[in-house]
Amino acid sequence: MEKPSVSPRDEGCQKLISDRLKRLDFTIESMNSGDVSNLWARKGSQSPHLSYVGHTDVVPAGHSSDWKYPPFTPTIADGRLYGRGAADMKASIAAMVTACERFFGRHHSFNGSMSFLITSDEEAVAIDGTRVVVDRLMQRSEGIDYCLVGEPTSDKVLGDTIKVGRRGSLTCKIIVKGKQGHVAYPHLADNPIHRAGELIEKLARKTWNDGDDVFPNTTLQISNVRSGVGVDNVIPGILELTMNIRHSPVTSVDSLIDEVEHLCQSIGIAYDIEWYGFSEPYYTVKTEFAEVISAAVRQKTGVLPVMSTSGGTSDGRFVAKTGAQVVELGPLKSTIHKVNECIDINELDLLSEIYEKILELMLVNSSTSSTPLWKNKIQTNLLNLVTSFIQPITNRGVLYLNQVREVRSGALTVLGIWISDQV
Ligand SMILES: [Zn+2]
Repeated sequence: MEKPSVSPRDEGCQKLISDRLKRLDFTIESMNSGDVSNLWARKGSQSPHLSYVGHTDVVPAGHSSDWKYPPFTPTIADGRLYGRGAADMKASIAAMVTACERFFGRHHSFNGSMSFLITSDEEAVAIDGTRVVVDRLMQRSEGIDYCLVGEPTSDKVLGDTIKVGRRGSLTCKIIVKGKQGHVAYPHLADNPIHRAGELIEKLARKTWNDGDDVFPNTTLQISNVRSGVGVDNVIPGILELTMNIRHSPVTSVDSLIDEVEHLCQSIGIAYDIEWYGFSEPYYTVKTEFAEVISAAVRQKTGVLPVMSTSGGTSDGRFVAKTGAQVVELGPLKSTIHKVNECIDINELDLLSEIYEKILELMLVNSSTSSTPLWKNKIQTNLLNLVTSFIQPITNRGVLYLNQVREVRSGALTVLGIWISDQV
């Protein structure tokens, strides 16, 4: 966190990470592209291949004087670690690396293989980062089966929310064309502001009814409207409008473009239109990996995570193209991109323990694992059911389940559950 790695700079962060991973016998490759640093580190070559994904770049700190402590001088105070990147997401990377150090220190043989995909281009344009690494991996047929992205996903307590998908995003600029002239002679001009009124109204009223259990409805927001030459007596020649659409995977980019362009044509305005900033949606349909992560969170914290698709885009969308099951789990997001960004020290330790537990559940033979996957799956489903009964009658936002015990009786398996509202 001392390194001021404002996107797309890495400032030596990946060197620190790769030095630690080399000691664990990871094979290190730099896959730099343009001025972006990308690190690919892999240990083993077997399936299943589990990859931990993150970014070393951070957003600018803004005015240092607004911070309680200098943004690039990591400071521990009140049980928290303060500094830019504390939550988004240098702490997650540190938690992932230390989890590996403990896990591989204990397990010299394991099932499958493990990798790190770290970029310095997530917070900015995300063109030369994870996208490039994934393309190179796909070119050489190096697949990823399971991908954990360490982005901050938690809402009120660590692990209460994991992401199993993200909406897609696209941006559009429309230039409404008119004819410049004197305000006193409107018949000699054509006012694009007046013409844009109907367009803005129709865009603002546009709704989609494509939401489901997983994704909310597609939404459109106008973000900028600019026109005028800065004086009171000139009718401007053009009006420029930008807007962004966040869409569910149910609605395709092509159909959204068609709808908006059809709307422009129906109003009968002269216009130019440009589409950019495409981010594809992703959704992990298979739930196996999400259930493992849910089990790891529950075992370490007692919290049962909500599976969500809310929020902005993430690099998970690039890895999803490989066919990997992508899930995101990281620290609380309440201070990200803000002044005084921080992470609770206990939360950081716990996060590392959860990442270590995920390694155990994924890479240790289920016959030697304390809780095999099938049992986690049954427990998670049962706990979801019980939670849905109990949560309405408790005043707590999170239900703590302190123990699940299995009692076998002949051919039947009975799961007994003890529930408490204490941690
Ligand atoms: Zn991030």
